[in-house]
Amino acid sequence: MNQNWHGTLIRHMLLLITVCLLVGLVSGYYGWSLALGLAVYLGWTLKQMLRLHHWLQAHKPDEPPPDGYGLWGEVFDSIYHLQRRDQRVRGRLQAVIDRVQESTAALKDAIIMLDSEGNLEWWNRAAETLLGLKTPQDSGQPVTNLVRHPRFKEYFEQENYVEPLEIPSPTSDRMRIQFHITRYGNNEHLMLVRDVTRIHQLEQMRKDFVANVSHELRTPLTVIAGYLETLLDNVEDVNPRWVRALQQMAQQGSRMQTLLNDLLLLAKLEATDYPSDNHPVVIDSLLQSIKGDAQALSGQRNQRITLEAQPGLRLKGSEAELRSAFSNLIFNAVKYTQDEGNIRIRWWADDHGAHLSVQDSGIGIDAKHLPRLTERFYRVDSSRASNTGGTGLGLAIVKHVLLRHRGRLEISSVPGHGSTFTCHFPNAQLAVEKAY
Ligand code: ADP
Repeated sequence: MNQNWHGTLIRHMLLLITVCLLVGLVSGYYGWSLALGLAVYLGWTLKQMLRLHHWLQAHKPDEPPPDGYGLWGEVFDSIYHLQRRDQRVRGRLQAVIDRVQESTAALKDAIIMLDSEGNLEWWNRAAETLLGLKTPQDSGQPVTNLVRHPRFKEYFEQENYVEPLEIPSPTSDRMRIQFHITRYGNNEHLMLVRDVTRIHQLEQMRKDFVANVSHELRTPLTVIAGYLETLLDNVEDVNPRWVRALQQMAQQGSRMQTLLNDLLLLAKLEATDYPSDNHPVVIDSLLQSIKGDAQALSGQRNQRITLEAQPGLRLKGSEAELRSAFSNLIFNAVKYTQDEGNIRIRWWADDHGAHLSVQDSGIGIDAKHLPRLTERFYRVDSSRASNTGGTGLGLAIVKHVLLRHRGRLEISSVPGHGSTFTCHFPNAQLAVEKAY
C-alpha cells in the first residue's frame, strides 16, 4: 500500500467514526451506532473479498478485474497487472524454448540428453534418423538397450569419453556414426551423434589405396631383388665396377621390401577393430624368442639385454601382432642404444593390469618429439634413421596393435640418458588369474 492509500484509509475510517458519532449524538445510542457503522463497513469489505475470490476462481487470461471501490479497486488492479506481467514473461520464455526446439530439430546432428543412470530424457529429430529412437515410447529407456552395439556398451560403461566412438548406425549398416559424450550437472550425460559416413568412406579409400599400391609394388620388387641377389651370388661374373652399385641396390631394395611389409601390416591392422584370433598368448616365451632375435641384431656391439618376465601371465590377443609390436620396441632399443649399452625388458602385472616395459640407456629423445612419435613416418632425425634402416612405421604399428588389445603406450625419455617405452594392458585383457 502506498502513502496515498494510507492517508485515504485513515480519512475514510475517521469519516465513518464521525458519522457514527453524529448519528449517536442525534439518537443518543453512541455504542449502537458505532457498532452498526463498523458492521456495515465489515460487510462491505467481505463483499469485496468475495468478488475478488470469484474473479480469481473463474479467471480467464484476458478478463479484466471487476470494478472495485477505493482500496479494493486498487488491489484488483494490482493483481491484474501482476498477472499480465507474468503472462508476458511466460510468453517470452515459451518463445525461447520454441526457438531452441526448432533449431535443434533442424540440426543434422543428433542431441540426446540422458539422466545420471543413462536413461533417455530428451532427444531431437535427428536422433530418430541416426539411432532409430522412437518418440515417446523410448523415453526413460536405458540408452544401452536401444544402441546395442557391444563397443558402445563398453564405451558408455567405462565412462572415459575423451576420445569419440565410431560405430555403424543401428538403423543402417552402411551409415557410420560418431558419439561424443559429455557429462554435466548431476552426472547427467549429453550425447552428440554425428553422421561420419563420408569421412569414413574417404578414410577407407585412403587405406585401400595404400594397401593396393603396396600390394602391387611387392611383386615387381621381389623380381628385382631376386635378380640382384642372383647377380651378387655370382659376383665373379660381374664387372667389378658394378659390384658396389649392385650391393647398394640390393640394400635399398630390401629396405623397400620392409617398408611395403610394414605398410601392408598397418593396412591390415586398420581394417578391423579387434584381432581375428583372440587366444591366450604366453608372453614370457614370446619375449624370450624376441630377446634372442635382438641379441642377433645387436651382434658384436656388446649390449647387455636382460629380461625379467612374470611367468604364466597370458594376454588375450594375436600372437603375430603382439610379436610385431614388442619386437619393434625391443629392436628400436637395440638400434638407438650405443655399443656396450643396457637394455632391460620387463613384463609384470599389478592392480592396474599388465605392463611391458623396454628401457634402454641409449641416445634418448627430446621431449618435444614425444607426442608425435607414433605418427607414420615421423622421425626424430631422418639422417640417423636411414642409417639404422628404419621405416618410420614401427611405432605406428605398435600403437595400432596396442589399441586392438585395449592397451596404451607410454613413452618417457631423457636425451643422452635413454628411453622407456611401456605398454599398459587392462586387467580385462589378461587370460588367467594373476599370480603375484
Ligand atoms: P624407425 O623405423 O625409424 O625406427 P619408429 O616408428 O620405430 O621408426 O620410431 C620413430 C622414431 O622414434 C625413430 O626414428 C627414432 O628417432 C625414435 N625412437 C624410437 N625408439 C627409440 C629409442 N628406443 N631410443 C631413441 N629413439 C627412438
